[in-house]
Amino acid sequence: MRIAAGQVQAAPGAMLRRFYATLLKSFGPQGWWPARTRWEVIWGAILTQNTTWRNASLAIKNLRKAGMLGWRSLRQASLSEIEQLIRPAGFYRQKARALHTFIDWIEDTHGGSLNLLFAQGAAPARAQLLQLKGIGPETADAILLYSGRHPVFVADAYTRRVLSRHGLLPAKASYESAQQILHQHLPVDQAMFNEFHALLVEAAKRYCHRNVAYCEECPLRSFLERNSKLETGNSVPKPDFESRVSVFAKAQELHTQREFQV
Ligand code: SF4
Repeated sequence: MRIAAGQVQAAPGAMLRRFYATLLKSFGPQGWWPARTRWEVIWGAILTQNTTWRNASLAIKNLRKAGMLGWRSLRQASLSEIEQLIRPAGFYRQKARALHTFIDWIEDTHGGSLNLLFAQGAAPARAQLLQLKGIGPETADAILLYSGRHPVFVADAYTRRVLSRHGLLPAKASYESAQQILHQHLPVDQAMFNEFHALLVEAAKRYCHRNVAYCEECPLRSFLERNSKLETGNSVPKPDFESRVSVFAKAQELHTQREFQV
């Protein structure tokens, strides 16, 4: 976020912590990541790409039923077997290859040990993960945060949507720049990053949809006015606020047609 006025430079961190406290009070702990093992977190992070968690969890359920959640059993399975099992997650050919690529790589590079992967530290592990086909920044960070327990914020589209509508991130912030801002303004706290990201996803799914925001029902509604003042005092692009007002108005119109969408 490009903050021009000196007097608001300390505000984003304080505001982010208030968002966190408000969401936690409203929604309670989210218990992420919903997985039984660190391996399962990784499969889930790959399978949930470009689809809903519901579809990814159906694929994981199939893998579990087939006894293929362990990396060794998954490695022994053919690509076509995996493809059939993970079909509900969509893009099943690419995702089956991504799973195999990860498994081959971790065996060749780290002897199949997640401990060795994560013990290098977040930055080297991230750099290695990003070399793998089928793993982008968001997937790598989900793996580092939820499987490796490293303090890395997953600045996904939900996070960017909610925070940019409140002027805490620039509109259209890239993944990397949004993450940089969050790292700059939040304490380095893995447990908080874990919970905060999960809470932001929940807020976006329940209230802050891509094309319409149900602000009147959202626990973050009390920050709208406060943040509009913050926006006036810094250089966050004005369209953030205008679009927020516009989606709020649209929310009134569409209220009766409401459906949960991502
Ligand atoms: S729904 Fe409204 S109040 Fe809630 S996060 Fe989105 S813009 Fe903010």
